[in-house]
Amino acid sequence: MKKPDPHSDQRFLPYGRQSVDEADIAAVVSVLRGDWLTTGPAVDAFETALCEATGAKHAVACSNGTAALHLALLAASIGPGDSVIVPANTFLATANAARLVGAEIVFADIDPKSGQMLAKHAEAAYARAGSQRVAGVMPVYFAGQCAAPHELASFASTHGLRVIEDACHALGTTYRTAEGNHQVGSADHADMTTFSFHPVKTITTAEGGAIATRDADLADRLRRFRNHGMTRDPAQLTNAKLAHAADGDVNPWYYEMAEPGLNYRVSDLQCALGTSQLKRLPAIVDIRRALVAHYAKKLAPLAPLVQPLEIVNGCSASWHLQVVRINFAAAGTTRAEVMNALREQGVGSQVHYIPVPWQPYYRDRYGDTDFPGASAYYDTCLSLPLFETLTMAEVDRVVDTLESVLSGPRH
Ligand SMILES: *Cc1c(COP(=O)(O)O)cnc(C)c1O
Repeated sequence: MKKPDPHSDQRFLPYGRQSVDEADIAAVVSVLRGDWLTTGPAVDAFETALCEATGAKHAVACSNGTAALHLALLAASIGPGDSVIVPANTFLATANAARLVGAEIVFADIDPKSGQMLAKHAEAAYARAGSQRVAGVMPVYFAGQCAAPHELASFASTHGLRVIEDACHALGTTYRTAEGNHQVGSADHADMTTFSFHPVKTITTAEGGAIATRDADLADRLRRFRNHGMTRDPAQLTNAKLAHAADGDVNPWYYEMAEPGLNYRVSDLQCALGTSQLKRLPAIVDIRRALVAHYAKKLAPLAPLVQPLEIVNGCSASWHLQVVRINFAAAGTTRAEVMNALREQGVGSQVHYIPVPWQPYYRDRYGDTDFPGASAYYDTCLSLPLFETLTMAEVDRVVDTLESVLSGPRH
């Protein structure tokens, strides 16, 4: 594989990247000059800003999106003896988090055109689970789209399942139901919604994540599990003799732990960056939507060889990924050849995702299950560059490069 030409005046375009502006930098520097590096006011401010940005009632910020998923499962009391439905097309973390609380995974197939698990796929997984005690379902809002969360919620309530949305791709996404418009994060059709603020995601805190919920008790449990299971809340203290001084006041050093938790806290530095980035969220979402619309126009002549993801009805995505579906065989090439040729011409790409049930760990544990939708989708998918500072001219360059690679000489 050749390295990108260092003398080219065209910058290399990764599939995703952060954008950090001077206001973001100033916000982080001011935390460094202050009294709190962690567990300080910038964390509370970020949680408040997240509630305002997503319509969440409560938001709990934590160290990353994987921690957010883990905390959500802990707070939902999902554990050994339970099973959880997870779509085959996701990042490892969704399934791993459920395994790490001791739950088993029932993988669900996906729609090959949108990459989404629909309610019917969750229902089929539930039927396949047989006598297992299915306790939850974790829809993944792939690429930033969400497929009818209200339909999944009605399936979940029929069977008494908890819904934990993996919205790591979908900060800023909205969707429509008969009742009106909903924001992802409002948790209108879920118990909890998880986000990631990794640099490739819609906004970044370097590493970071959050859980949104409408339920004050769940928010309280999430906060405790985030910090070793500790509480100083007088109402929650159970050991009166240790907790209280003779005059009845709570002892100033006293804390209690009812269930072991973790250190999944996030620093004030990270939260200051997050709050600053969130101020741009509406603008970032506008840019991403415009770029995806431009891709769609520019890609149209390449159909049916190359097609974008199918648009999910009723969803207005913030678009984390620009995925195209390519019929590599019909183009007389392979995905590896295309990725290598794009890279040589300064265009990064990625595959989202290798179906998680195909990972050796899950294959050993659950055997080979047929996921025709996930398999068909995986054969075609390729993620092209999409990030805030990408220009329309660069979108043209990406698509022109892809077209020339697909029509180029074969060996
Ligand atoms: C990024 C991501 C995660 C994990 O988030 P981290 O912050 O990297 O831990 C989980 N699920 C999905 C779908 C993701 O894209």
